[in-house]
This record gives sequence, structure tokens and C-alpha cells, in this order.
Amino acid sequence: MKLAVLAGDGIGPEIVAQAVRVLEALKADGLPIELEYGLIGGCAVDATGEPYPEATHRLASQADAILLGAVGGPKYDALPRHQRPERGLLSIRKELNLFANLRPAILYPELASASSLKYDVVAGLDILIVRELTGDIYFGEPRGIDIRDGHRVGFNTMIYSESEILRIAHVAFQAARKRQKKLCSIDKMNVLECTQLWRDIVTEVAKDYPDVTISHMLVDNAAMQLVRNPKQFDVMVTGNMFGDILSDEASMLTGSIGMLPSASLDQNNKGLYEPIHGSAPDIAGKDLANPLATILSVAMMLRYTFNHEESAYRIEQAIRKVLASGLRTKDIAEPNMPVVGTKAMGDAVLSLL
Ligand code: NAD
Repeated sequence: MKLAVLAGDGIGPEIVAQAVRVLEALKADGLPIELEYGLIGGCAVDATGEPYPEATHRLASQADAILLGAVGGPKYDALPRHQRPERGLLSIRKELNLFANLRPAILYPELASASSLKYDVVAGLDILIVRELTGDIYFGEPRGIDIRDGHRVGFNTMIYSESEILRIAHVAFQAARKRQKKLCSIDKMNVLECTQLWRDIVTEVAKDYPDVTISHMLVDNAAMQLVRNPKQFDVMVTGNMFGDILSDEASMLTGSIGMLPSASLDQNNKGLYEPIHGSAPDIAGKDLANPLATILSVAMMLRYTFNHEESAYRIEQAIRKVLASGLRTKDIAEPNMPVVGTKAMGDAVLSLL
């Protein structure tokens, strides 16, 4: 299990340090984990002038999986676009062809009061959104702004090829197999031909997965159902643009940005694993950041890249027990609850692992 560890900027090094402690503990228990460290984002710009240096690309290409903290910070906001830390993130996703973005939205019952929805609607929520990440209207050609008949027009192209739909559909069915075996595919086939093809192909792929129950939903209804009754979903799969919107909606149902991991996978389940939050410069270096999203990213890595469900479950159970014991970092604490720092939260997870 060769891992590239890219801590990045802001709170990145603090939260990744806690996730590395978990990896070291699993290694001591016999998992064949090898860690190598590299630079990405602002720290890479400081050291090399590039947000995604060649040495990092080599390291990431040779690894089986990449653990990333976060990138960015006010220090870099005035840099030209190609040198911005966020460019490092886009480059690594593109260069490694990480086309499948997996974003769980999990709400631990102990944290249900962090959600803006009623307790009964969200307590125990556990959804996985599988979003296609490298195609669709965000990349389709032609695109642009033109003058036509003397008027300005703006246009983009929504386009998916059969192979792009096939590969994301397989990722989604396989992910569903590792969960409750229910997959809902989201499209807008009543209006958009591109998504009619999406539905047709997902329906064909479903025949390879008779153990997974497939359903289809129009995106407008899906947006509504996510706030009406989100617990009806297990895994949702959709294209780049619909997924962009629905995954943010779903993650915000949980109200706790410091708790949510993500994965971006290529065709061979090599993956980049990272918390969904940013580098939180406002709390960097203060031992205030919640490391749980990053530690949960390690659990996702073990499940999706290494097929090591047992270790993934072990990490998730340790975190559940930590939360049940009442331990909270500041971002997830209710008023009057005692609060612990980043390192103490790491200590607690390790002791329950
Ligand atoms: P952010 O996610 O960094 O922070 C938003 C708020 O959430 C802040 O108040 C922050 O303190 C809090 N927060 C975030 N993570 C937390 C954690 N683990 N524990 C406790 N509190 C946490 O978003 P932002 O402030 O909009 O962006 C800050 C920087 O991060 C920017 O430079 C942005 O470009 C970058 N960014 C990077 C990524 C990434 O690396 N994937 C994603 C989003 C934003």
C-alpha cells in the first residue's frame, strides 16, 4: 500500500498529522503501508514556484493512493492564476484522470443538532454521491460567448460519451455493492438527450449488478427529495454539473464541514482522498481544526483503493465511539460542551482504534 502524503497549506499539516498517526497504528498492526511525502499548493509554490511540481507528480503517479490535506490561503490570493494553490488540485485530478468523485454525506446521530433540518429527517443520514468529474458541460466543446445576428450569446455543450458513462456507472454500482445495494441515478432525460443516453446506459449496466436495486430520478426532484427525505437514498450517481450542485446540498445537510471526507478515483480505483473542507487559514496553527474528515478519508482509502473493509470499519467505529463519548472539536461542539484540540482528538481516535 504505497501512499503519497500531500499535507498542503493552512490546517493541512495539522490534520494530516493525525491521519498519519492512524496509518502508523494500522501499519504496526500489520498493514503493509508505505508513506512518502510531497508538496502541493502554496507550500509547493514557496519551495519551487509551481503548485503541482514535477516531483509531486512523479510521487503521486507511482503511489497507489494519495492523502491530501488542503491547499490555499490569503498569502497566495494575489498570484497569477496558473500559480494559485487551487491550480495544484485541478492539475493532480486531471493528470491522474480521477474521473469519479465519491462524496459521502454522513450525519452521526450525536451531531444531528448541527444540521439545519429536523433531527428525525437527518439523524443517521448516510448517503454516498458519486459524481462524474472530468466530462459534461464543464468540459464540452464548443463553448464561448459570440455575437450572433448582432446579439451576444453565451453557449456551452453538454456532452457525454458512452465510455464516460459506462465507467462512472460501474464505479457507482460497485460502491453500492459495498453499502446498502441501492443506487439512484440522477438525470434530466425529459429535456436533455445527453442525459437520455445516460439513463439508457445506466439501465444497461444495471444488468451486470442484479444484486443492486437501481432507480432513476430527475435532478429537480432529487434536489427536493434531498431536503424532504434524504434517508431514502443510499448511493446516488450523476454527471459533473448535477453532481456539483447535489453533492454540496447533501454535504450541507450534515452541517459539519469538519467531518466529511471525499475520494476521487481513476479507472483502477487509484484514488486521491481528502476532506471536503479547505485550508481554514483562520484557525491554522492553533490546534483548533477537526481532524476527523481527514481520518475518515483514510477509511475511504482503505475501502475503495485497498479493498480493506475491515480496517475502514475499524477507523469509522473508533470515530463513532469518540463522538459517543462526548468529545468534540470546536466546530462540532454544542454550547457548554467541553472542547478538545486537533491533537487530543487524534489521541482519542487512536486510543479507541
Ligand atoms: P474552508 O473550508 O477552509 O473554511 C470554511 C470555514 O470552516 C472556516 O471558518 C474554517 O475555520 C472552518 N473549517 C474548515 N475546516 C475545518 C476543520 N477541519 N475544523 C474546524 N473548522 C474548519 O473554506 P474557505 O475559508 O472558503 O477557504 C480557505 C482556503 O481554502 C481558500 O484559499 C480556498 O481556496 C481553499 N480551499 C481549498 C480546498 C481544498 O484544498 N480542497 C477546498 C475549499 C477551499
